[in-house]
Amino acid sequence: MTVKANEMQIGAVIVAAGRGMRAGGDVPKQWQTINGARVAAWSCAHFTSRSDIAEVILVIHPDDQAFAEEIKGVRIIHGGASRDISVRAGLEALSSDLTHVLIHDVARCTVPAHVITGVIKALRSAAGAAPALPVTDALWSGLNGKVSGAQDRTGLYRAQTPQGFSLPAILAAHRAHTGVAADDVEVARAAGLDVVITQGDEANLKITTPDDFKRAAALLETQMDIRLGNGFDVHAFCEGDHVILCGVRVPHEKALKGHSDADVGMHAVTDAIYGALGDGDIGQHFPPSDPQWRGAASEIFLRHALDRARSRGFSISNVDCTLICEHPKIGPHSADMKAKMAELLELDAERVSVKATTSERLGFTGRAEGIAALATATLVKS
Ligand code: MG
Repeated sequence: MTVKANEMQIGAVIVAAGRGMRAGGDVPKQWQTINGARVAAWSCAHFTSRSDIAEVILVIHPDDQAFAEEIKGVRIIHGGASRDISVRAGLEALSSDLTHVLIHDVARCTVPAHVITGVIKALRSAAGAAPALPVTDALWSGLNGKVSGAQDRTGLYRAQTPQGFSLPAILAAHRAHTGVAADDVEVARAAGLDVVITQGDEANLKITTPDDFKRAAALLETQMDIRLGNGFDVHAFCEGDHVILCGVRVPHEKALKGHSDADVGMHAVTDAIYGALGDGDIGQHFPPSDPQWRGAASEIFLRHALDRARSRGFSISNVDCTLICEHPKIGPHSADMKAKMAELLELDAERVSVKATTSERLGFTGRAEGIAALATATLVKS
């Protein structure tokens, strides 16, 4: 049976109830910090940031409740003494309208997006799918420090997670399973489910030893999702006695014409954020034809773009805005504009730049027919 992508409702269960201390440290490995965030937070973010995953459940040990509550976008469930019990608790807690589930080991905090996508794609035509890599090293058996034999590696794979399943099928398999299983593929196979092997990745590291933290830190740095967007806006002058630029009222012999408060600088920054997200532009989110935005403070638009970024797991790293006009003179107001934009964006002032240039009296800005603004925004998912 083939399931259409839009008919799949996918949940994820991140298994994080283990007490494993082999990796060293004072707390279990999933609550240790890598590059400023806990291992469990990195693991969850790979799932909470995806639009094709509807719900993420984090299964923890009750002692770790305070750590877990720091993680956004997950529902916390308490697990049990063994991995099987914890997975089952997570599966039982998933909302019943989901069709599929991805079960992931919290220690794999560097799972690349394509590994998750590969499992989801395979689930359209299989009851189970899991990533793995073929064994390429020679395999030996050893005895008393000496090689005692060679093992044929043909057909051998190194299993990874997330392991994906039809939710009703894996739930039934877990309810029926007795004894200990190494992973959910074993539980599924015991219930007679076929499990397709999908493409794993060497970068899908499972943190086990103290050295693995360094390797994971390096991998997470290279995986950092950095987005750049640009924005451009123009507003013409009209009758009036002030303009609003980057949230600051500047006295002038003219005003700027526009549906909202015509803050050309703030509009350019807002469009730069939408641009970085690949999420349209101001006109699309706030149609000029809609009377409710007449005279609106442009802060509403900027706040909307910021919320869209945050809801997708991005934070703003910096913005840079250039205002292009002969008059009014921006210099005396640029510090206020920078401070206002930093306040609205909830950023340190050093991450915000507002500068100005003339166009050497050329073009419409040179003829003082209006003001143009250019902006760049950098967004980082972390
Ligand atoms: Mg505009």
